[in-house]
Amino acid sequence: MKVQFLGTGAAEGIPSMGCACQRCRTARDEGGANARRRASVLIEAAGHRILLDTPPEISTLLNRAEIFDLSAVFLSHEHFDHIGGLTEFEYWNQVLPIFAGYDVLASLRLTPRLEERALLAGCFPHVRVYFGDLTVMPFKVVHHVPCYGLAFEAGGVRIVHFSDSGFELAGLHRYLAQEADLVIFHTPTLDTHPHHLSVLDVISLVQDWSVQRAVITHINHDNLLHAELVEQVAPYGITVAYDGLAMEV
Ligand SMILES: [Zn+2]
Ligand SMILES: [Zn+2]
Ligand SMILES: [Zn+2]
Repeated sequence: MKVQFLGTGAAEGIPSMGCACQRCRTARDEGGANARRRASVLIEAAGHRILLDTPPEISTLLNRAEIFDLSAVFLSHEHFDHIGGLTEFEYWNQVLPIFAGYDVLASLRLTPRLEERALLAGCFPHVRVYFGDLTVMPFKVVHHVPCYGLAFEAGGVRIVHFSDSGFELAGLHRYLAQEADLVIFHTPTLDTHPHHLSVLDVISLVQDWSVQRAVITHINHDNLLHAELVEQVAPYGITVAYDGLAMEV
């Protein structure tokens, strides 16, 4: 399976519009791994391409990565940083299946043109969706609105994407992560956050659950600079995503 991190920023992205903090200044001045457009991931396996979430910059992200076809889009939850670019797909070149939790669908606002172009489908937790030999299993995570993680399986490889989730994870999450070849966590901040796992939370989870390989993404401007983050998590075998990072699993 191939994983591409198209964008890796949290809610406001980095640099954040209207923000003059040091972190955003560095991103504006130097760009590179310190500049993060909002989070979106592309998974490729068994001849299929699945896009996770449609942040406001999705048109730029897909152009930059030269993605011209998609088997489907999955939306994790209703927050703007995850669905703000959905209406861009009214100009997509094909009719596009768009999957979201049955309790997420109701909060999506489509334009009339997108209503025509999109095949909207509601997902249920633990009910697999099949794309040939690639299966996608949605599961609930802990967030302040309904939110879904996704487990991808193809050719004996499993990738688990937790999306935005708080720290109170269940035995199910532990099982999915322990058996996975790669686990992707969203960690906006270094330290405690009320609705999200933090970098420090993930360091303890990875050790506690014996996660084989973990990546952190969805980083915000209160977090460390990229190089500092790498230094912080590398000793625990955790990779820090940056915009454009591609991995083979
Ligand atoms: Zn988010
Ligand atoms: Zn800032
Ligand atoms: Zn969220």
